[in-house]
Amino acid sequence: MGGETSVQKVIIIGSGCAGLTSAIYAARADLKPVVLDGYEPGGQLGLTTMVENFPGFPDGILGPELIENTRKQAQRFGAEFRSGAVTSVDLSRRPFKIVAGKETYESETLIVASGASARMLGIESEKHLLGHGVSTCATCDGFFFRGKEIAVVGGGDTAMEEATFLTKFASRVTLIHRRNEFRATRIMLDRARANPKIVFMTPYAVQEIHDMDKKSVEVVTLRNTETNATSKISVAGVFVAIGHDPNTKLFKGQLNMDDNGYLITHEGSKTNVEGVFAAGDVQDHHYRQAVTAAGSGCMAAIDAEKFLTAHKI
Ligand code: NAP
Repeated sequence: MGGETSVQKVIIIGSGCAGLTSAIYAARADLKPVVLDGYEPGGQLGLTTMVENFPGFPDGILGPELIENTRKQAQRFGAEFRSGAVTSVDLSRRPFKIVAGKETYESETLIVASGASARMLGIESEKHLLGHGVSTCATCDGFFFRGKEIAVVGGGDTAMEEATFLTKFASRVTLIHRRNEFRATRIMLDRARANPKIVFMTPYAVQEIHDMDKKSVEVVTLRNTETNATSKISVAGVFVAIGHDPNTKLFKGQLNMDDNGYLITHEGSKTNVEGVFAAGDVQDHHYRQAVTAAGSGCMAAIDAEKFLTAHKI
């Protein structure tokens, strides 16, 4: 297939849970979807280890395995995958133009499933230990820390919410924030402060997470951001809860987004541009679950199919 010469019926941007589920549905509707993989093929599931809350897997499944299976499922019905990230889009008229590196694609509909990336602290050990004690999702991984001491990093609502949620499992949660003031709303902060299992440590930044050699989290070195003095705490897990960034820069000025850059959808997966649909974390900062992303991916494919039928394409 030459991407430059033929107009596709459906192009899907992103190959996480939402994009891949869209691909299954679009492929089974005989729309021959083309999936553009993006910077992080597989999305956030590709960065996690055991997934225990995706229905249908009583013993859990590894995130990368779940992604690989879903990808194969889409391929079985004829979805095509192209590697490389999208560099620009023109949604001003149909067929839409999508540029990924040297390739220019044209498509009658577009499903945007480019996800949101968890913000990271930017230290080497955090990358190394992601999925091995370092996590960006309390709902996903809290269960593994039953009876253990853990740390949550951040000073916004997400950090407060995750710290509070994690006290269901952990024996103690140390909330580490780099300033003495919090971005979190009063009610969320007060709830966390009132929880006897949460200990606040401010103003501290995470300097290092150990032990990279053992591939498990044991100790965290903290730096007091006012005095620069360092100290250590023993924890079995670190939850980085410093926010997410939706991958929507490409669509600025073309698709409507909220103040935080998440795409705004209505009537299911529709965006403000007819024929462009959005699915998964790129339009959902609330649930952020694999199963909700998959569900919205299904919705987007059905909406795209309906659009094509209505336009006799
Ligand atoms: P946020 O409000 O942007 O807060 C991010 C926090 O992480 C800030 O405290 C920030 O510190 C800290 N941070 C950022 N980069 C850091 C770094 N490199 N190292 C250390 N700390 C870092 O993000 P959020 O908490 O995810 O919330 C996003 C939006 O969703 C907000 O509007 C929030 O109200 C909303 N939300 C609502 C709920 C709810 O109502 N249930 C739950 C979750 C989120 P500084 O303050 O020093 O910059």
